[in-house]
Amino acid sequence: MPELPEAETIRRQIAKKIIGKDIREASITDPAILRYPPDVRRFCRHIKKCHILAVTRRGKAIVCRLDSEQLLVIRLGMSGTMKVVPADVPFDRHVHFRLRFADNNELRLRDPRKFGGVYLRDGSNVDALPEFSHYGPDALSDEFNADYLAAALRGRKVLIGVVLMDQHLVAGIGKIYSDEACWRTKVAPTRPAGSLSRAEIKRLAAAVKECLTEAIGVRGTTAGDNSYVDTYGLAGGFRPATYARTGQPCPRCDTPIQRTRMGGGRGLHYCPKCQK
Ligand SMILES: [Zn+2]
Repeated sequence: MPELPEAETIRRQIAKKIIGKDIREASITDPAILRYPPDVRRFCRHIKKCHILAVTRRGKAIVCRLDSEQLLVIRLGMSGTMKVVPADVPFDRHVHFRLRFADNNELRLRDPRKFGGVYLRDGSNVDALPEFSHYGPDALSDEFNADYLAAALRGRKVLIGVVLMDQHLVAGIGKIYSDEACWRTKVAPTRPAGSLSRAEIKRLAAAVKECLTEAIGVRGTTAGDNSYVDTYGLAGGFRPATYARTGQPCPRCDTPIQRTRMGGGRGLHYCPKCQK
């Protein structure tokens, strides 16, 4: 599933190609991809002739700001990716959303598993949108730091590896980078969140930013059952230490990585020896 680094990679790649473009028309091939407004015709009417001013990101979602005081939110879901191509390039049945620009290029959202979604909302303040109103700070923002994390984890019995994936606590982290941040901190993801010491929390907050930043630098992660590719069809270059590496040696101590089914069926990967 695309997490913050994968969404940021796609954002950067499409931003260069669509900022300043005029939208000529939108096509929704599968109405299930359209989450708001629910009416396809209304959506297409409202987005037509808009001009793209900026392409930003909130957590794992990509947000286009339009000159019509509207925001187009695109969630990549489990398997979504986007590309910008000439409109005459053929596309397959997994392309559910297309935006055609005046220059005859198209932005396409391809999402085989269809957990992604497209929203068109009035306004220009991303944080005021219903999609994000309860979101925590972005994992790479200054608001997400050791003090914030310490206050958020205090007394929590939920596993630390699960709590890091809660977008209401911090936005942008999923399975890959939760596992990675815990490994770098030498903390087992199966520990109750409230049991971490102040020193561990400080290291964890730093590890989150460090691994996300490294991953953005190499265009994200393609690992395990995630089929993520960037807008050029290339796999990400980040190599997680534990995620999707069950049975393989820990890069730090060679102990086989374990996977545990915990926290709503999500597997947590960790080294049973050097993560305490
Ligand atoms: Zn180890």
